[in-house]
Amino acid sequence: MELKIYADNAATTRVTEPVLQAMLPYFTEQYGNASSIYTLGREAHKTIKAARQKIAECLGAEENEIYFTSGGSEADNWAIKGTALQLSQKGKKHIITSVFEHHAVLHTCEFLEKQGYEVTYIPVDENGLINPEDIKNAIRDDTALVTIMYANNEIGTIQPIEEIAKICHEKGVLFHTDAVQAVGNVPINVKEQGIDMLSLSGHKIHAQKGIGVLYARKGIVLPNLIHGGAQERGKRAGTENVPAIVGLAKAIEIATENIPEKIKKVTEKRNRLIDGLLTIPRTRLNGDREKRLCGNCNVSILGIEGEFLLLSLDGKGIAASSGSACTSGSLDPSHVLLSLGLCHEVAHGSLRLSIDENITDEEIDYIITSVKEVAERGRMMSPLWDSIQSGKVDFDKI
Ligand SMILES: *Cc1c(COP(=O)(O)O)cnc(C)c1O
Repeated sequence: MELKIYADNAATTRVTEPVLQAMLPYFTEQYGNASSIYTLGREAHKTIKAARQKIAECLGAEENEIYFTSGGSEADNWAIKGTALQLSQKGKKHIITSVFEHHAVLHTCEFLEKQGYEVTYIPVDENGLINPEDIKNAIRDDTALVTIMYANNEIGTIQPIEEIAKICHEKGVLFHTDAVQAVGNVPINVKEQGIDMLSLSGHKIHAQKGIGVLYARKGIVLPNLIHGGAQERGKRAGTENVPAIVGLAKAIEIATENIPEKIKKVTEKRNRLIDGLLTIPRTRLNGDREKRLCGNCNVSILGIEGEFLLLSLDGKGIAASSGSACTSGSLDPSHVLLSLGLCHEVAHGSLRLSIDENITDEEIDYIITSVKEVAERGRMMSPLWDSIQSGKVDFDKI
């Protein structure tokens, strides 16, 4: 089956034509090493500087606060391990995060726990929102860092970032946010919002895979990540990936061009999708309906296995995602869905559709019809659905 609808933009995105065109000269013509002193090298140096400037502008930051990384995971690792290492010298070995972070954050925190750090995992409520008061109460004298994601990658909920940043600063604690899903979908200004460090990734905003940024406010001492040459202000050695950097600058420029208009347009489409899917009996929306990314729809369809849903939809030319166990390579369903208080059976039937502004109403209706068909077929074969129908088991959450 050929791909008809790509509805998995939270997993990765297509490199768009303007991004590709911006990158192309840097492979075969402008291929200089930015450290070389002849013209070709100096051109590369200038190009990187301009890209850094552009990215800084889009975030409300300064050029020398932008560090290129290989992506969101590396930026998260650097921010958290770097701060932990730096501040442990001052006896600060406590980190605060949330239970439903991306694994790039959670597994980094778990690693640090094994190294003798202490981590507090803040819970989220049933709508996938963090209560800033919980963070306030968790901050201690030895807290080095608070790291809370801007928007969740599975359920799309957007956290009260400014409020959290304010609390951190009142208590003299650094604040980092994984904004990989938020960039281009919510207006961000690191200075106005009091964000000390921020991670972003190119391939979630139509640049290529393998490029990202860590923004670190001036004054923050980041330990070296990769020792070697003088690239990235001497903190991350290695000859710069000029085409990827140029592509990222172009992608973030386009992504942040007119966010309010994009939110309006995509929200309408997403609501059409959510409303359509909620007409399927015993289906629930996961995550707050209002405080969520404009392109994110995450529902649980009771009695269905996520993997069955995905494979059946693939057969209809629709690419989507699920937080069910089979798709994540572990036995447990997604930690994000479980953090909402969903039981395993409900979490197993989850479906994430992440759309962009190019999707048409016809395509949305095709998704809805397809999911309905698949759900009906799946439920006919589902022993769980049988038991629910006959009243033997019930789930009050749905
Ligand atoms: C995709 C993603 C990452 C990882 O980014 P990579 O560039 O793939 O390393 C981190 N955090 C969130 C929230 C993401 O969605």
